[in-house]
Amino acid sequence: MNVKRLNNMTSPKMICIWKEKMNNNQKAARPNILVEDDKPPSIRKSEEDDPLSLAGESLRSLLTPTPRIPEKKTSLVSHHGKTTIKTKAFRKKFYPLISDKEWNNWQWQLQNRIQSHEKLSRFLTLSQEETLVNRTSQLPLSITPYYLSLISPDDPDHPLRKCVVPNVNEWLQMPGESDDPLGEDQQSPVPGLVHRYPDRVLFLLSDFCSTYCRYCTRSRVVGHGTIHPSRVRWEKALKYIEKTPAVRDVLLSGGDPLTLADDRLEWVLSRLRQIDHVEVIRIGTKVPAVLPQRITPNLVKMLKKYHPLWMSLHFTHADECTPETAKACARLADAGIPLGSQTVLLKGINDSAKTMASLMHGLMKMRVRPYYLYQCDPITGSGHFRTSIEKGLEIIRSLRGFTSGYAVPTYVVDAPGGGGKIPLMPDYIQGHTTDNLVMINYENRTFLYPDPVSAPAEDVLK
Ligand code: SF4
Repeated sequence: MNVKRLNNMTSPKMICIWKEKMNNNQKAARPNILVEDDKPPSIRKSEEDDPLSLAGESLRSLLTPTPRIPEKKTSLVSHHGKTTIKTKAFRKKFYPLISDKEWNNWQWQLQNRIQSHEKLSRFLTLSQEETLVNRTSQLPLSITPYYLSLISPDDPDHPLRKCVVPNVNEWLQMPGESDDPLGEDQQSPVPGLVHRYPDRVLFLLSDFCSTYCRYCTRSRVVGHGTIHPSRVRWEKALKYIEKTPAVRDVLLSGGDPLTLADDRLEWVLSRLRQIDHVEVIRIGTKVPAVLPQRITPNLVKMLKKYHPLWMSLHFTHADECTPETAKACARLADAGIPLGSQTVLLKGINDSAKTMASLMHGLMKMRVRPYYLYQCDPITGSGHFRTSIEKGLEIIRSLRGFTSGYAVPTYVVDAPGGGGKIPLMPDYIQGHTTDNLVMINYENRTFLYPDPVSAPAEDVLK
């Protein structure tokens, strides 16, 4: 059955034929969702091809979760000590035999990630909109047990749940949406390397993430094996960087670069450090939020050899600011890695002033400087996530002046077609008199700043 998104449809109105399609598809697709491929990548591929490179680790069998029983509601963010109350309860219920050592092992988390609706339904009461998704939709399903522990089992509107649990709305294509809205494919001189801005490149190391975000800008490629983590491809990208002296800044992304084994990531970092004109290396990752166990002492020990190294950490909601994630960020910060955040503005998830302030404050407490707030890219099937631009400006306005300047990210639209990031700011300038700039402050009070306008040439001559 063809279960591709409705990519080629260009109706000016929202395409609402999915219901009929789903009714038909569901019958055929339902039996398939019981077939699950939970094999970790390390035993699916050779070590060279495997982004995780887990060879040599003893692979533990999957633990079948015990049936769910009603639980008492607890705050997702309340915690004491090393974990949240929510995670503690989740582990007790679903993984009672798993030791702390196993749970805190990032490879165990990867091997046991949830990759099918059938398995997911053992943990969550899936809503109709969550159930009606064909498992072969464009972006795969994958959630680490740790991240799942932060998700409400009963509330389909829970913010973190909406980020990672597939929803039938992904099948809707809105006007202006496309699979590659940023035109990355057109700006790739070699596969997996995007050269858009003059002095920097985006180097996609793999297409693998431990947990897939339903609004992912690269949902056309991530999780599909199209960006292969092979040295052959990496060599081509490195050669391009080598022969392009204008490139002084390389951003490693994917997929998630931190899902690579230490030695494979180090190979790339050391090769980049051999290129004289590469001044700065950056890593874009969501690992501290979805797989904080990955930030091991050995990893940071390796990373700190390659300074100046910066990191952009992807966060969505304050519920991600857990003790585990705080510990991961502390390790990175202690290794001298400047940490900035990237957040996508998402409807019903973080599109209120209070929620955004809470996230920004949570990030600052974890030593992560709020960096970018992105307007959600018009990816195919992302209409249910997108807010108006006005909403984004309203949120920025609610932060500026009311809280620390460091807690105010730059709100940007990544221009469709490859125009790059364009910053958007609420308008504080009211006008100009001959002598003064007229402005309003965060409280809407008017102020004048002396800024005489140069007199026209004929006036000067009088
Ligand atoms: S972590 Fe990044 S690359 Fe991976 S699915 Fe989420 S947004 Fe996409």
